[in-house]
Amino acid sequence: MEPGDYKNMISMKIKERKYRFPAVLMLVVVLYLPLDAAAWGMLGHRIVGQIASTYLSPKAKKGVKDVLGNESLAMASNWGDLIKSDPSYDYMYNWHFVNIPANLDREGVFKFLETDKQANVYNKVLEMVAILKSKDSTGDKKRMAMRMLIHMVGDLNQPMHTARKEDLGGNKVYVTWFGEKSNLHRVWDESLIEYQQLSFTEYATAINYPEIDQLKAWRNNSLKHFVYGSYQACNRIYAATRPEQKLSYRYNFEFVDLLNEQLLKGGVCLANLLNDIYR
Ligand SMILES: [Zn+2]
Repeated sequence: MEPGDYKNMISMKIKERKYRFPAVLMLVVVLYLPLDAAAWGMLGHRIVGQIASTYLSPKAKKGVKDVLGNESLAMASNWGDLIKSDPSYDYMYNWHFVNIPANLDREGVFKFLETDKQANVYNKVLEMVAILKSKDSTGDKKRMAMRMLIHMVGDLNQPMHTARKEDLGGNKVYVTWFGEKSNLHRVWDESLIEYQQLSFTEYATAINYPEIDQLKAWRNNSLKHFVYGSYQACNRIYAATRPEQKLSYRYNFEFVDLLNEQLLKGGVCLANLLNDIYR
């Protein structure tokens, strides 16, 4: 090999690399997209955790601290998504949502939840509650159950996590969000929340003013009622959205109240469960 050839080879390698990089990046982007569209974003989960912490009984506060130490509900809330990067947690894939068929009334939804034997966000929340209540669970098991509980209660109150199987909870309902390609699931996981331009503590403080009667009703809700509320919200969202719709200012105006209500309800729902575990 001539020295010149060697130089050429190196410059070819560099050129090759230049061309390879975007391909690798593309792959990362493609792989990242479905993960990205899988749960309330960081903000949504933290808002739910932060609000829940304002409704805890003294016993529940102590119970949570015994399990999580100095980790707050808000900061523990995203662990359930972070572990998706580790394949040993793949078995939890279905724990984040429940696909409920269209056109069910309340009794129909309750019945579906009672009889659906697949792992879903509803029956796994109940399982985590049982682990946390059990005297036989180890500290490690309780920590995992607590982190997953906090996360999953957030998901359960994200309307598109109780949505339809045929479009993967709105992941296949393609829309644009301020001109960028997106889908209905992702808009509700992240875009609408991020659009409000608030930190999670600002957000939680800003919306934590439920009407007294409303709060009373939510505090008496069973977990099934919360799922049904989320399901009703998803039906409203489906009814108002056409495929390929261009969503922007008007969509935010129309749905920000529903978004905030679901976040607030999520916080109350989580507090209800924790207050019950440590009663
Ligand atoms: Zn999730």
